[in-house]
Amino acid sequence: MKIGEAIKISKRMGLPETEALILLSYLSGNSKEYLLSHLEEECNEKFFLFVKKRLSGYPLHYIIKKKHFFKGEFYVEEGVFIPRFETEGLVELAIDIIKRRKIGTIAEIGVGSGAVSVSILCETNVRALGTDVSEKAIKVTRLNASNFGVESRIDLRKGRFLEPFRSEYKNIELIISNPPYVRQGAILPEDVTFEPPEALFGGEDGLYFYKEFFKLYDTSGKIVLMEIGDDQGEYFRKQNITVLKDYSGKDRYILVE
Ligand code: SAM
Ligand code: GLN
Repeated sequence: MKIGEAIKISKRMGLPETEALILLSYLSGNSKEYLLSHLEEECNEKFFLFVKKRLSGYPLHYIIKKKHFFKGEFYVEEGVFIPRFETEGLVELAIDIIKRRKIGTIAEIGVGSGAVSVSILCETNVRALGTDVSEKAIKVTRLNASNFGVESRIDLRKGRFLEPFRSEYKNIELIISNPPYVRQGAILPEDVTFEPPEALFGGEDGLYFYKEFFKLYDTSGKIVLMEIGDDQGEYFRKQNITVLKDYSGKDRYILVE
């Protein structure tokens, strides 16, 4: 089947043209511009398999195995959280603090794909410590750190919170995290249900991670920067914690310094 025909049929099946082009581009290695100017060429036979998978709700980025985040393309695969646009704001805040305060060591809890730490490492000279409860997240972060050429400045260990770095805790100047903060039982868009639950759910009120973290760690003398859900700002404001907004004007980050 020709590319033009395949796009038309997949559109009729319910797939937006932009996604059809992304899938075709992934399958052939050709750019979207190339595809659009070669609609008469034969399309890859796997295309409709991917269209069906996508229409079943399976995330586009798990099919094409990458997600653009901040300034680069991150490798992602099933079992690892797909980095979100809002989190780029967390990275920008961190880079600004690191440069202003001349910070040398940061720690990230829950690295996932490594999007946050790797982006920060690309823009600053810090050393990063990173944890995740998921072995796959550690593996994928290691791969992304290596793809971006920053693997020598990141130390990754599997474990909860900062437990694997207990002995180095005193050297950490900035603690950063985009933790799971979705309320247990919340209705999620279908594609999100394919992502790992341990990356998303933060207990009954979505606040389990933050409550546990501040109970476990003495953060005096350190800066803590975390992402929160857009309906969780009030909880933190009540405790005199600074709440910052994202690009769309929603409560999204907390800063303790
Ligand atoms: N930092 C990545 C990002 O922003 O794209 C991933 C964020 S994802 C929302 C949360 C990550 O934290 C998941 O990879 C999950 O496995 C991990 N995680 C959840 N609870 C954790 C805990 N108590 N300690 C360490 N990692 C945790
Ligand atoms: N914003 C995410 C979502 O799309 C949740 C991220 C998180 O829990 N850290 O559901």
